[in-house]
Amino acid sequence: AKSTQRGQLAWYTPEISRQTHDRVTLLTGLRTAMRAEGLFVVYQPQIALSDRRLIGLEALVRWRTESGEMIGPDRFIPVAEQSGLIREIGFFVLRRACSVLALLHGEGCQGLRMAVNVSAIQFRHPAFLAELRQIIGDSGIDPCCLELEITESIAMEDAVYVRETLDALHGMGIQLAVDDFGTGYSSLAQLKGMAVDRLKIDKAFVCDLDEAGADASIAGVVIQLGQRLGKEVIAEGVETEAQADLLKRMGCPEAQGYLFGRPMPLDDLRAWIRRSRA
Ligand code: C2E
Ligand code: CA
Ligand code: CA
Ligand code: CA
Repeated sequence: AKSTQRGQLAWYTPEISRQTHDRVTLLTGLRTAMRAEGLFVVYQPQIALSDRRLIGLEALVRWRTESGEMIGPDRFIPVAEQSGLIREIGFFVLRRACSVLALLHGEGCQGLRMAVNVSAIQFRHPAFLAELRQIIGDSGIDPCCLELEITESIAMEDAVYVRETLDALHGMGIQLAVDDFGTGYSSLAQLKGMAVDRLKIDKAFVCDLDEAGADASIAGVVIQLGQRLGKEVIAEGVETEAQADLLKRMGCPEAQGYLFGRPMPLDDLRAWIRRSRA
């Protein structure tokens, strides 16, 4: 028994310390990147399925390390959340996204919407509203054109502080979307009272779509739910014409995905906008 125990220890310890080491390395790199402009923001088009015109953008953060390696947000956002660095990153993205939106509004994209992901940790912080107001004020954008993508758990939370924050955001005219909708555990009863404007169908349900199972698909259910509850619906991760066509026929008004446009830096986005107008 003793040798087994020792064997387990010998197996677990290096594994855990390797993970800790990775996290510390990642965190140190992230802090440096924050200072050295290693973090930047890309923008992905959101379109109306009826005529494919551009209606919005989603801001997504990117990290290029000093050695040129790209590290995806799925890898560094969780680490940033554990350390609190997520607030700094989140406000960096918000600030950038709002100023780019102001720029695009001035270049003929009146009414264009900008969606920004907000981590639960950033959202729950007592200074969140004040910092957000500051950023909106500095950029000069109309808050009605800003949308915050929040998690299902935040949208459902009944803590007084969270409810008040959601109300205040609505009061400012800011739109709220539930990201990755359908992947959480909210009940139908909770859904009804949910103070959000838009449900975002997760790409996992979009890539599952096919003609045969369309009626029973989760995407179809979310679209109908949105119609019943008076919420807008957008589908993410649309990669094929078949998916776009099916979503449109199911009554989904808006979509986002590689089929229409990849997440792009500002200059590429401008070229994309020029092409889409031509
Ligand atoms: P998300 O918010 O669900 O974002 C959608 C992800 O799907 C993005 O990955 C996007 O690049 C990718 N995507 C877009 N269209 C397609 C498509 O047609 N097919 C496929 N397969 N994928 C597509 P990305 O940029 O790697 O971001 C991953 C996640 O990291 C995001 O998931 C979001 O949860 C988080 N994230 C990204 N930027 C931020 C940020 O500024 N703040 C916070 N808190 N989280 C962020
Ligand atoms: Ca999102
Ligand atoms: Ca998603
Ligand atoms: Ca996500």
